[in-house]
Amino acid sequence: MTPPELEVPLLRIDAVTKRFGGFVALDDVSVDIRPGERFGLIGPNGSGKTTLINCISGAMHAEVGTVVFRGEDITQLPAHIRTRRGIARSFQIPRPFKSMTVAENLMVALDFAAIGDDFVVAAQRRDTVMSILTQTGLAAKADLSTTGLSQVELRKMELARAMATHPKLLISDEAMAGLSSSEVDEVLDLLIKLASQGITIIMIEHIMQAVMRFSQRRQDHRDRRAGRGHGQPAGAGGLPWHLASPSMTLMRVTAP
Ligand code: ADP
Ligand code: MG
Repeated sequence: MTPPELEVPLLRIDAVTKRFGGFVALDDVSVDIRPGERFGLIGPNGSGKTTLINCISGAMHAEVGTVVFRGEDITQLPAHIRTRRGIARSFQIPRPFKSMTVAENLMVALDFAAIGDDFVVAAQRRDTVMSILTQTGLAAKADLSTTGLSQVELRKMELARAMATHPKLLISDEAMAGLSSSEVDEVLDLLIKLASQGITIIMIEHIMQAVMRFSQRRQDHRDRRAGRGHGQPAGAGGLPWHLASPSMTLMRVTAP
């Protein structure tokens, strides 16, 4: 086996900076994600986790630094091209097309990622969508309106939509927020199952137990601006979140 330090990263984020006006949301962030790994990205609210995901998926562009995926510099590529290269993300707040059924929502994602000859006939589309819905535990809901879904089902549908684009890298942005602990386990089991099929997964999550169970490697996206009034949220047992799990390997995204 190749030692991890010699493996070519699937994704390399190198010295990325993102500003909103004068506000620096990402300041010189570097992260390498290895092929096949389950990677946990943690950090307090407002520390720029979603912004980083936006810069990876193409919803936003880094002003400084590079994003390299499978050896290709994708920093300036638009989102739909990145999707076709194999990057999919779920949104923190589910955004279903409410007028459509669950299956139709997945078909939109399927078509979005299709290139040229990949456009498939209706029967095949249905088969592909049904196999993803079966995999994500939503087959029985295929022909229901998304308005009839529970919160946990909506979160699973977000992941199913991402899966419909056949990703090599799946980024899950707080897919478990607000769920009960048994529902958290359901989503966690689903993510671990998807990873076991060879999909590299970045999981962003506040629920430390979930991050600990899921990730083979974690990175602390601690807010460099914490000392400037952003504060530190509490973790388990009232400890600062980064001290709540002393066994965690903490690696700073940015220099102290
Ligand atoms: P996290 O996901 O870690 O909670 P975000 O990436 O959502 O953090 O936000 C990081 C910071 O950037 C926050 O202070 C947020 O208000 C700000 N921010 C995020 N998106 C925008 C935007 N489109 N315009 C202006 N400020 C933004
Ligand atoms: Mg966020």
